[in-house]
Amino acid sequence: MVIVVHGGAGRVAPELEEAVLEGVAAARDRGWRVLAGGGSAVEAAVAAVAYLEDHPLFNAGTGSALNRQGFVEADAAVMDGATLGFGGVAGVRDVKNPIRLAREVLDAEPVLLAGEGASLFARERGIPAYDPAALVTERALERWREARRRKVRGSGTVGAVALDARGRLAAATSTGGLVDKPVGRVGDTPLVGAGTYAEAGLGAASATGEGEYLARALVAFRAVAGLAELGPEAAARRALERARTLGGEGGLILLATDGRFAAVHTSPQMSHAWRSPKGEGAALS
Ligand code: ASP
Repeated sequence: MVIVVHGGAGRVAPELEEAVLEGVAAARDRGWRVLAGGGSAVEAAVAAVAYLEDHPLFNAGTGSALNRQGFVEADAAVMDGATLGFGGVAGVRDVKNPIRLAREVLDAEPVLLAGEGASLFARERGIPAYDPAALVTERALERWREARRRKVRGSGTVGAVALDARGRLAAATSTGGLVDKPVGRVGDTPLVGAGTYAEAGLGAASATGEGEYLARALVAFRAVAGLAELGPEAAARRALERARTLGGEGGLILLATDGRFAAVHTSPQMSHAWRSPKGEGAALS
């Protein structure tokens, strides 16, 4: 059993470092508890991501980055390596935990539901409408104002990859996207193989960073596909280098079917935490 989580690529302000590390470690523990209780890789990855969605310091769920008009449009996805099942949602405005909605899509026929349709599906599945204003934190507003002044692109997307006791792999990712993004913009997160990918016998990956480049480089799929030949560290690096040649930075957590894993980034920093039978840790490298 292994769980690895990330709290996004990008720079973390020094005064927030401790809280961010505590956040990813607590998310890891949530995921591990599910695995230790005999839960599936999918449920563990979703539990870890949902925890970080509720944590206001991360760019997912509550505390999501705001779009050009100052409101949240969330993207999230979960992939089950055992079945190659994929559940994605894009541009969701009124759901507290987009990853739980993505989890519902995983069990339905569509692979990706967007906007109003995603909200309708949420209601059908008993996920209540959530006040969009409650997703907006003071900090997200500050970052948005700052981004509009200085044209910086913040980050803090969250993700998890897991390997359960039965050897099943899963990946989950959730994000508010890039701060000040155009209304309707969808990033790499909910696209199969771009921000999220898992495949039995190979591995699982969750990406963060500049989605336009990560998506075109298919970083999550590229990393997983490179595992057998290169191992986790080099496979993740090669995938991110492909995005970098296109012009974008980012980070990846990558877990192989044999339990080896890596957390790699070309962005300035990426918070992450892990637990396996060999031990646990959390880092902001
Ligand atoms: N990859 C996300 C996106 O482009 C943003 C991020 O990771 O911060 O939507």
